[in-house]
Amino acid sequence: MSLKEYRKKRDFSKSGEPKGSKKKGKKIFVVQKHDSSRLHYDFRLAINGVLKSWAVPKGPSLNPKDKRLAIETEDHPLEYEDFEGEIEEGYGKGFVLVWDCGEYKNKSEKDDKKISIEEAYKNGAMKFDLNGEKLKGGFSLINTKFNNDKKNWLLIKERDDFSDGRVDILKRERSVLSGKKLEDFKNEK
Ligand code: MN
Repeated sequence: MSLKEYRKKRDFSKSGEPKGSKKKGKKIFVVQKHDSSRLHYDFRLAINGVLKSWAVPKGPSLNPKDKRLAIETEDHPLEYEDFEGEIEEGYGKGFVLVWDCGEYKNKSEKDDKKISIEEAYKNGAMKFDLNGEKLKGGFSLINTKFNNDKKNWLLIKERDDFSDGRVDILKRERSVLSGKKLEDFKNEK
């Protein structure tokens, strides 16, 4: 887990994004709504001192029947957890807001034994509870290697008190940090 690829892709004097220095931290997650060449949601989990990251084109869902494609992207620094605003130039150019964030609790298992989130990541099968403002309760991230691409995972809501097949959680579009919509950032330009 390293930030080499993250740093290689960016010119920090131009992009305004954090370069990253923090080492370890709490078990947090963040979901960023990112309007770049194509609108998507970036789902990030703090694992071993970095934010492991997946681009979710359709965004997370509270419906356990939805299996949302999550394409693994480069690790991001922990400081990225509260990054929002404009990426002015280069890779990922566009606007970002913190759609949800909070702590997570690992509950991954293998052969009925509890395993660490690092191990679960390596095995390609993670289970965790999210405690965000919008996303709550159990979720799993499963590496399906769909289309023979090892970057392809699925993000699936677990059936529990927080699952809901009727609500479109993406309609709650405002940043949980600033209360702004993506349009607000664009209009401020
Ligand atoms: Mn993105």
